[in-house]
Amino acid sequence: MTNEKKAVIAGAGLVGALWAVILARRGYEVNVYEQRPDFRQAGYAGGRSINLALSERGWKAVEIAGIRAEIEAVAIPMPGRMMHGLDGSLTFQPYGEEGQAIYSVSRGGLNIELVKIADSHDRVRFHFNQKCLGVDLENGTIQFEDTRTGVKYAIENALIFGTDGAFSAVRSSLQRLPRFNYSQHYIDHGYKELCILPNLDGSHRMHTNALHIWPRGQFMLIALPNLDGSFTCTLFLPFEGEESFANLQTEAQVLAFFEKYFPDILPLMPSLAQVFFENPTSALATIRCSPWHYGHRMLLIGDASHAIVPFFGQGMNAGFEDCTILDALMDKYDEDWEAIIEEFNASRPEDTNAIADLALGNFLEMRDKVGDPQFLLWKKIEKHLHERFPKEFQSVYSMVSFSHIPYSEALAAVAAHERLFGKMLKIKGLEEKWNGTEVEGVFREWVRGR
Ligand SMILES: Cc1cc2nc3c(=O)[nH]c(=O)nc-3n(C[C@H](O)[C@H](O)[C@H](O)COP(=O)(O)OP(=O)(O)OC[C@H]3O[C@@H](n4cnc5c(N)ncnc54)[C@H](O)[C@@H]3O)c2cc1C
Repeated sequence: MTNEKKAVIAGAGLVGALWAVILARRGYEVNVYEQRPDFRQAGYAGGRSINLALSERGWKAVEIAGIRAEIEAVAIPMPGRMMHGLDGSLTFQPYGEEGQAIYSVSRGGLNIELVKIADSHDRVRFHFNQKCLGVDLENGTIQFEDTRTGVKYAIENALIFGTDGAFSAVRSSLQRLPRFNYSQHYIDHGYKELCILPNLDGSHRMHTNALHIWPRGQFMLIALPNLDGSFTCTLFLPFEGEESFANLQTEAQVLAFFEKYFPDILPLMPSLAQVFFENPTSALATIRCSPWHYGHRMLLIGDASHAIVPFFGQGMNAGFEDCTILDALMDKYDEDWEAIIEEFNASRPEDTNAIADLALGNFLEMRDKVGDPQFLLWKKIEKHLHERFPKEFQSVYSMVSFSHIPYSEALAAVAAHERLFGKMLKIKGLEEKWNGTEVEGVFREWVRGR
């Protein structure tokens, strides 16, 4: 336990940089060590930079850091998804109510912005090109190597945060402890980043304010808007099998694949084949572990403790929510880190495990169901129920993206909503009866049995 206001953060990614801002605002002296060169000058490595959807949970942490205006300036609202059918048809599906949106942010742009803001605090110091090698649990030190000189050194600090991402070096050290639980599960799909360039006048070549999606059953393509008029696209495709990365080895194969499944996007990607082979194909994993701490001085947050697949757009949001929760616990326990870490480690994993499951489940919805008439009917039912019973019914998507309801409650709602859906479908002529007594009767009975 410590009351010393000094923290070391390993990893200046999205969560580490935001956490540095929040700690500095609370009067902590923060030293942040990052293995990459300073990306404000060196730029952000392309091909894996992807765009992220920032939603309500993320915004709350951004507000706690006092930087909403700065982040809003680099974010584009996406109030719904634009579905691209094989025949070129477009269908817009709102994500929530009027005025609600998730926001497209460039990973690199956001990371650079967060580092700039953190670095403007007198109490924060960044150390780039410093690779964390692990932690010495016995001595309570964290070890680094200067990647330019090869010099290795150790730092002792009362509070150490591991925000060094899914392949965390801090976590690797904890993994050597007895009774440390760890699992890593890769899905069969990988992803590749592609790009749609802007029009000559800098405008977007598709509707700006939407998350574009081409659902194709076993795979899908998505595109999120950037401020410079471009779109960052991500192709999610199995590694192996008939339609897979393994079978896209030549320019002709890539072009034929896009012509078959994404004909409307081909004219927007004149350098498709070149970009396809330049950019890496990356894997997607869910990582769970426990405990997230060692003693009361080392704590993992963000992807280092809970990396998830991206299909609910929640990995970063969940990491930012870690910061929100820790900030509230600092108030609750008057910055007694022993109590804070204990409660965080006891309560938070249930929710991060839940969002891991929800994210895996949402992949099926995005790539397969969004074009399915049954799914569209369910979306209609959800909308009408929410309009009629706003206090009692909220869709799972809206719980996750537009509320602070614990993820575990959202996960529990999935099965409950499926039961309700089954009952609603039994109402004959449902679409003409949204405001009738029959719908209310079924709904009330469901509420009583929940
Ligand atoms: C394709 C894809 C799409 C996604 N879409 C979304 C989305 O729409 N919405 C959303 O909320 N989330 C999304 N995510 C998840 C999101 O990217 C992560 O959850 C988020 O980046 C986690 O932030 P972090 O700071 O914990 O880790 P990271 O962003 O990975 O940052 C870790 C940092 O630590 C540094 N580091 C690593 N090892 C060391 C070391 N040994 N020493 C020093 N530094 C080190 C790294 O260089 C990096 O700067 C997506 C992820 C993927 C792969």
